[in-house]
Amino acid sequence: MSTWEDNVRRVVPYVPGEQPKISGIIKLNTNENPYPPSPMVVRKQMELNNLRLYPDDKAAVLVEALADYHKVDSDQVFVGVGSDDVLAMAFMTFFNSDKEILFPDITYSFYDVWAKLLDIPYRQPALDENFRLVKEDYYGENGGIVFPNPNAPTSISEPVSFVEDIVGHNKDVVVIVDEAYVDFGGESALSLTDKYDNLLVVRTFSKSRSMAGLRIGYAIGSKKLIKYMNDVKFSYNSYTMNMPSQILGTESLKDDEYFQETVNKVIETREWFREEILKLGFECPKSSTNFLFMTHNNIAAGEIFEKAKANKIYVRYFNRPRIDNYLRVTIGTREEMEIFLGFLKSLLV
Ligand SMILES: *Cc1c(COP(=O)(O)O)cnc(C)c1O
Repeated sequence: MSTWEDNVRRVVPYVPGEQPKISGIIKLNTNENPYPPSPMVVRKQMELNNLRLYPDDKAAVLVEALADYHKVDSDQVFVGVGSDDVLAMAFMTFFNSDKEILFPDITYSFYDVWAKLLDIPYRQPALDENFRLVKEDYYGENGGIVFPNPNAPTSISEPVSFVEDIVGHNKDVVVIVDEAYVDFGGESALSLTDKYDNLLVVRTFSKSRSMAGLRIGYAIGSKKLIKYMNDVKFSYNSYTMNMPSQILGTESLKDDEYFQETVNKVIETREWFREEILKLGFECPKSSTNFLFMTHNNIAAGEIFEKAKANKIYVRYFNRPRIDNYLRVTIGTREEMEIFLGFLKSLLV
């Protein structure tokens, strides 16, 4: 007998890092920024009114502000509800052939979820033994390419020349570079969007701008790419980005000094913490992000994860091939990292 369940779209959803409800924890598991957003954002938040009205469907104020900030035309900017929304729209818009799209075997674990949801065939070339992308793996025929730079959860970045090489070898498909962490030390591919009309650069306010709760993401690319994305977006849901996000996102862009200051604090803490864990015998690639990807020969990552959690310190552990002995640890405040370091020392004595 057939039932309505035969025709359900069945998916295995993406599993985000835990958002524990208990208080007093040190939260180093979802790459949030430990510092609050700019005081200008906090002040502006008090002035929000007119919630009864629909927001601007085109988010024009934010789009303009982003265009000014990055010195591009406003029709080269697409905004969405977090970069997850922007990436999902880009998958829907550009990955439409029968050929496999390509992304690394170790990468942001939402890509394969969207590919399955949207019935996009895909293949995942393996990172090399040092967790680096191999550019030649992306030279052959394919239906499109997506990778984060810096990559997650490895924290490793590639130079813009590397990105250009891949884009140059793939002018017949769209190449998406997910720059969620670029502000923490990566090289941006934004300058290449003038030269290559098939390159889409995706960014977020969630990490470097301390605004994960507002859900603001954007993409920059050629006018053609952005037009195609907007056509799909406005065929699906017009009023996606709420009014507070539009206004507060715009406010954040006005305070570059605070932005640089907090990013630099995270970088300083990261470099200090990395030196300390190397002394404890951890291995850890140089990071261009707000997290570290770390492993130890004598103690299993899964065990550190569990014991840290029992001590109210949350880090991220992925029980997946090749990385099941690694932890991804978000850089918190100096004080938080000192507590975590003390915990690691106590484990290793
Ligand atoms: C965090 C993250 C995103 C999604 O961020 P949003 O909060 O949806 O903007 C996308 N890509 C990578 C690689 C990330 O780490």
